[in-house]
Amino acid sequence: MAKAYLICGTGTDVGKSVVCAGLLKNMPCGQAIKIVQTGEKLFDQNLYAEACPRGRSKTLRHFMLPASPHLAASMENQAINLAALAEEARAKIQEAEVTLLEGSGGLMTPLSATDTFLDFMVDLGCPLILVVANVLGAINHALLSLDALKRADLKVEGLIFTHPDAGYAESHPISIDNMEIIKRRSQADILGVVPHLSELSRESRKEETWDKVAACLGKAATHLLKPDRAPEPEPAVISDFDQAHLWHPYCPAPGMGEPNWLVEKTAGNYIYLKNGRKLLDGMSSWWCAIHGYGRPEISAALNMQARTMSHVMFGGLTHEPAVELGRILLKVLPPGLEKIFWVDSGSVAVEVALKMAVQYWRGLGCSKKVKMISHFGGYHGDTLGAMSVSDPVNGMHARFSGFVPKQIFVPRPATPFHASFDKNSLSALAEAAEKHHHECAAVIIEPVIQGAGGMWMYHPDYLKGLKEICRCYNLLLIYDEIATGFGRTGKMFAADWAGANPDIMCLGKALTGGTMTLAATVCTRPVAESISSNGAALMHGPTFMGNPLACRVAMASLALLQSSDWAGRVHAIQHALEEGLAGCRGMAEVRDVRVLGAIGAVEMARPVNVCRLRKYCAEQHGVWVRPFNNLIYLMPPYTVTADDCARLSKAVSQAVKGREWA
Ligand code: PMP
Repeated sequence: MAKAYLICGTGTDVGKSVVCAGLLKNMPCGQAIKIVQTGEKLFDQNLYAEACPRGRSKTLRHFMLPASPHLAASMENQAINLAALAEEARAKIQEAEVTLLEGSGGLMTPLSATDTFLDFMVDLGCPLILVVANVLGAINHALLSLDALKRADLKVEGLIFTHPDAGYAESHPISIDNMEIIKRRSQADILGVVPHLSELSRESRKEETWDKVAACLGKAATHLLKPDRAPEPEPAVISDFDQAHLWHPYCPAPGMGEPNWLVEKTAGNYIYLKNGRKLLDGMSSWWCAIHGYGRPEISAALNMQARTMSHVMFGGLTHEPAVELGRILLKVLPPGLEKIFWVDSGSVAVEVALKMAVQYWRGLGCSKKVKMISHFGGYHGDTLGAMSVSDPVNGMHARFSGFVPKQIFVPRPATPFHASFDKNSLSALAEAAEKHHHECAAVIIEPVIQGAGGMWMYHPDYLKGLKEICRCYNLLLIYDEIATGFGRTGKMFAADWAGANPDIMCLGKALTGGTMTLAATVCTRPVAESISSNGAALMHGPTFMGNPLACRVAMASLALLQSSDWAGRVHAIQHALEEGLAGCRGMAEVRDVRVLGAIGAVEMARPVNVCRLRKYCAEQHGVWVRPFNNLIYLMPPYTVTADDCARLSKAVSQAVKGREWA
């Protein structure tokens, strides 16, 4: 299999190019690639060719200004697209037995307004060599770089020391001490030391100079060329255990359903299977991985927090991560929502919301208001209360009849999102409210889009009418924004489409950008005050409530979201999905095609064969899609490009056309 290594450095001018050229000279079967060259000449590529005329060398991007890549590119009215660059590098890697990819500057060198060279490395995911200039300050630069690489979960094959400064030869006590301390503290292998060679700075170097450099790097080259060890444990053993013992979501007992695919890693917008297949993610891991996978900012937040406190009980204690996340959340939430209850999953957030509603009315002395009004086609989770307010026909009521509490159901909001609003669509709700308000605590709804219950996108004016009905009939209004929150529909919250804010709101999924499980139930001050009017407590308290790791991760995720043009990206995805899925309209067996924000759904006339469609999309198109019931849908990370959307839509369109799901 083709091997690839990134050659990165502790800073600019540390001698990466010399190391890269010297390594290439030891591996003529290989190629060296300069990822971004700035400055007039193809300096590094020429250096590789000079050192090893038989090896291949190449430059992926070249800009004239000798400056940081982002600046040099912008001077030429260009921008470096990280995903496209990484894709190109991946393709190139396949062309040689071994590839050395040289970075620019240090890890934090900006490639674009949003991405650093480290982000590129994370996307590519190759092991790397860190080139350390053995000068004053080396310990600091090397250990900080190694720490960042560790937090980004990148594999460091080893260190190569260089001596660009004539004053610090290998035998200098500072040089020796630097190497010893860096090795001891990082536990990284030292693969080579390139001495100071004054002739390296000449215009062109003689062959014997390169012979000297190559000799110092022989051990490093042998290390890089040695065959990979067999992975432990064997994939088959993992799959066998999985089949025998592990239950998967909505599946028969272990071993009695379809085998699950073994994932090796996730990075960027991709899921990498153990069998070598790489799948473009159309699901955002059930709608939560909005930034794609492996974002270094999120891993860094997680690692930093783990150093001081991974968890502590929330009963009687509090901590900065929970408080800070609360502060940040209140700034983005629709106005009026100000009391936060941290929970550990979406379903539990819904349970807490239902309990809040019941306890609110108890606080006002109305102990009979205990039922909920919900909508056909809704989905609110898998725990008992959440199940009871989910669709009673397609949901799980039938399987648990007698066990699930009975609630009041009204038809789903009938007017589609883009149609003109039909006021009559509120009449069934008004009737139910009039008839049942004395026994009902609240109305619960997924604002603007019913997700798992059918990907139904409805007119936001329904929410305005609903709020008015709730006000008239003394019902609380609960929004389940678990799937829609944090930009998915094109607004920060789906509630923002209507400007009709709820009394209670449930959040989850994208709250942590898909890295950890964390959810929240938030309510208004009047709701909170009534619950505790007689000093009563809200009766819920999960063990992992306010988990500090999850809170820090959520803060990092929200910071990423807010510092990105998420609205622009979601809008672009909507546009690309509309264009990409348009061809499905009118195809046989297609009932409807709906797109809103970063959500595209094709509703079929019949249920699809999930396993067959999953296999077809993966094998024929390299994309990960997991439909449910009669819906083939896409909810990609916000980081996908227009080309990614086109690829995802093409897979869905061709699957629909070829009826692979049948
Ligand atoms: N509510 C909605 C609207 C959801 O989409 C989901 C999950 N699909 C849930 C609640 C349940 O969340 P969780 O799976 O985290 O329990």
